[in-house]
Amino acid sequence: MIPPRFEYAAPKSIGEAVGLLKSRGGEAKVLAGGQSMIPLLKLRLAAPALLVDINRIEGLDYIRESMGFLRVGALTRVATLGRSALLERRYGALHDASLTIADPLVRNLGTVGGNISHGDPSNDLPAVLLAAEGELAATGPSGERTFRAEGFFVGTFTTALAQDEILTEVRIPVPPHRSGGVYLKVEQKVADFATAGVAVQVSLGRGSECAKVGIGLTGVGPTALKAKKAEEAMLGKKATDRKAVEEAGELAADASSPASDIRGTEDYKRGLIRLLVARGLERATQRARRGA
Ligand SMILES: Cc1cc2nc3c(=O)[nH]c(=O)nc-3n(C[C@H](O)[C@H](O)[C@H](O)COP(=O)(O)OP(=O)(O)OC[C@H]3O[C@@H](n4cnc5c(N)ncnc54)[C@H](O)[C@@H]3O)c2cc1C
Repeated sequence: MIPPRFEYAAPKSIGEAVGLLKSRGGEAKVLAGGQSMIPLLKLRLAAPALLVDINRIEGLDYIRESMGFLRVGALTRVATLGRSALLERRYGALHDASLTIADPLVRNLGTVGGNISHGDPSNDLPAVLLAAEGELAATGPSGERTFRAEGFFVGTFTTALAQDEILTEVRIPVPPHRSGGVYLKVEQKVADFATAGVAVQVSLGRGSECAKVGIGLTGVGPTALKAKKAEEAMLGKKATDRKAVEEAGELAADASSPASDIRGTEDYKRGLIRLLVARGLERATQRARRGA
C-alpha cells in the first residue's frame, strides 16, 4: 500500500499549474481532494511522475448564482455542497447527491472538480449535471474552454478534458419558477458507491405537466448516462400519469447497460432504474410544486 515514487508541486496559480501539466506531457496528474487519486497510487493503478496539487490555488472554492447559472468552483468540497442552503432550496438534486457520497471524511476532502474530472461512472455528481444540462469550464495552455455536460463523459475514467487542462467551474442553469430536482441512490451498504442512482430535474408548465425533464443515471453504464428518450416521453405529461411514468422508467432502463457485479445483476440494476426514475419523477414534481 505504498505509492510509487513521484515528484510533487503545489503551484499557487492556475497558470503555473497548467504550465507544469503541459511541461510533463502525460506524465503529470492533478491532485485535488486525493480521495480517488491516493487510493489509485497506493494500489499502484496509477504512477504519475509528477502530482500537481491544486489545493493552494485561491479562488476555486465558491458556490454562487450569477449570469443565469449556479457556479461552483472546482475546489469546493463535497461537504460544502451539503451545507448550502441555496442548493437545498433551489438545486435539490445536487444537494441530495452530495449527501449520499461516501462518508463525512471523504466528503470533507473530495472536491466537486475531482468527482467530475475522475470520469468514474459510479461517482454521483456527473448524473446530476447531465439531468440539469450543466456546463463545465476548464483552463489549459490556450485559455478557457467550456463543455456541455452531455458529451463530457467520454468513457470509463475518461472525460473530454485534455491532460494539461484543469477543470475550474461547474455550471448549472438557474432553473425557472416551478422547477424541482432530486437524486435517488440505492447502495448496498452505507457510504458505498451506487448500485444504481438517478438524478431527475423537472420544470412544470401551467397545468403541472412536465415542460422540461432531465434524467441522469449513475453506475449503470461505462459513463454516467443521460436518458434522453425517457426525458422526451415525459414532456407534456404529468408525474401522476402512471402510464407515462412507467414508459419513462422502461426507456431509462433500456438506455442503461449495467454490468452484473458484486452489487447486483444486470436485471436487478435495470429494475432499480425503472423504480428510481418513477420515484424521482414524482418527488421532483412535488419539489417543483413547492418551488424547491
Ligand atoms: C471510501 C470511498 C468511498 C467513495 N464513495 C463515493 C460515492 O459514493 N460517490 C461518489 O461520487 N464518489 C465516491 N468516492 C470518490 C470521491 O467522491 C472522490 O473524492 C472523487 O472521486 C474525486 O475527488 P477528489 O477531489 O478527491 O479528486 P482526486 O482524487 O484528487 O482526483 C481524482 C482525479 O481527478 C483529477 N482531477 C481532480 N481535480 C481536477 C481538476 N480540477 N481538473 C482536472 N482534473 C482533476 C485527478 O487528476 C485525478 O485523475 C469515494 C471515495 C472513497 C475513498
